Amino acid sequence: MVRVRFAPSPTGPLHIGGVRTALYNYFFARKNKGKFILRIEDTDQSRYVSGAEEYILESLAWCGIQFDEGINIGGEYGPYRQSDRTGIYREYINILIQKGAAYYAFETPDELNQIRKEYESRGETFQYGINNRMNLKNSLSLPASEVKKLLDTSHPHVIRFKVPEAKEVTVNDLIRDEIKVNSIIIDDKVLFKSDGMPTYHLANIVDDHLMKISHVIRGEEWLPSLPLHVLIYQAFDWEVPEFAHLPLILRPDGKGKLSKRDGDRLGFSVYPISWQDPKTKEIYRGFREDGYYSEAFVNMLALLGWNPGDDREIMSMEEMIEAFDLKDVHKSGARFDPIKARWFNHVYLQKRDIKLVAQEFKDELSKVNINVTLEEAVFVAELMRERVDFVKDLVTEAIFFFKTPETLDPKAIKKWGTDNSAQWLKDILLIINDIEPFDSEKIDEALNNYLKEKNVKAGNFFNTLRICIVGTSKGPHLSTIMQFIGKQETINRIERGISYFE
Ligand code: GLU
Repeated sequence: MVRVRFAPSPTGPLHIGGVRTALYNYFFARKNKGKFILRIEDTDQSRYVSGAEEYILESLAWCGIQFDEGINIGGEYGPYRQSDRTGIYREYINILIQKGAAYYAFETPDELNQIRKEYESRGETFQYGINNRMNLKNSLSLPASEVKKLLDTSHPHVIRFKVPEAKEVTVNDLIRDEIKVNSIIIDDKVLFKSDGMPTYHLANIVDDHLMKISHVIRGEEWLPSLPLHVLIYQAFDWEVPEFAHLPLILRPDGKGKLSKRDGDRLGFSVYPISWQDPKTKEIYRGFREDGYYSEAFVNMLALLGWNPGDDREIMSMEEMIEAFDLKDVHKSGARFDPIKARWFNHVYLQKRDIKLVAQEFKDELSKVNINVTLEEAVFVAELMRERVDFVKDLVTEAIFFFKTPETLDPKAIKKWGTDNSAQWLKDILLIINDIEPFDSEKIDEALNNYLKEKNVKAGNFFNTLRICIVGTSKGPHLSTIMQFIGKQETINRIERGISYFE
């Protein structure tokens, strides 16, 4: 039975790298008809950030990532929030102590700092472990009576893992293949802190075991911890799950990991939805608020570090689930490409049901106090969506359908205006009066007749007229716009334009 989990720590907003980890776990669970579990790893009280858990839930829900068990859902293996499981960790740390695989260490943080400094002054790095544990203050080096006294008097202490004597540890990663390290380089990590809480390493392993996790799929930053984790599994005599460490998401220039600062600096989001830091009140932008459809965001994100084995790019959640295979996840980091990200949204915008796009467009317009009917929004959205990547950009791009342009673009006037432009406009005003019905076909016919009769240059003529109607020399078919705004508004805009060209 495939059982995978996403195990975020509520230490802040979920970076897109974290969302991608959740997504690949989700694909893997669904593809293999397994279960997907959401566990909150909140044992590090000092890093807890209020609102982060809600943010994580909201982000994953926005992406359409669904869980089978977890906080807020429940399940056979709960509770799913680590701070509700502290009794369990105490039980399991005692097992390790009894087995001789963990020990009490009595140095205070200050004492450790002092020792670290002494090592540094000799040009060495301090590591609590195989080579020096017998010279330090712990239950391995001190006489049993003294250890008992310290424990009985509740002397502050931590519990460390006792890395087994120097041996080669071989670990297997489904993406990285086999990795070998000598246990001598692994330090005796703290498993239980003096505040009575387990560390990530203990809680994570105990939970993965008790929750029957078959595959641990997580970010590459955890790869260095893998040998330690395997040793802890072995110390418990537990079966080791399969591991897959996912490559980093890199900055667009490929130089380093995409960080939260890069987004603001380079003008794109690195978070799925926006986040306000509860302390600094600083607001970080999100893909959702930038106008991305969640389907486009998810599709884009899934292809950062994975491909379906062929050249398909636009894929629905179902198609990606169907195609997903861990062996197609790349070993090297994936560059985030903000232009490509926009392209994904562009494609989804073109594919989307026009009624939905129109409703979204209508809502955007009402934010700037322009109220239109759904039919009008459908008409304009259909004409204009191919020119934009986001619905909200339709407002700026298509504003001339609903509002008289505030000014006429001087550059366009300079480029297209001629000595005759004002006269053309005056002639057209007279012609327009007689066009009945005032529809695109009849307008085209009348304008083309005028063009032939006067033998004027089409480019200059149509752009002169277009600048009056649109405000500049761009936009869809002119007579379509004129029909939409109606005869009276067309006349008003041309009348106003005359003075510009004069
Ligand atoms: N709580 C860890 C994190 O947020 C989970 C790592 C893991 O999946 O093992 O990165």
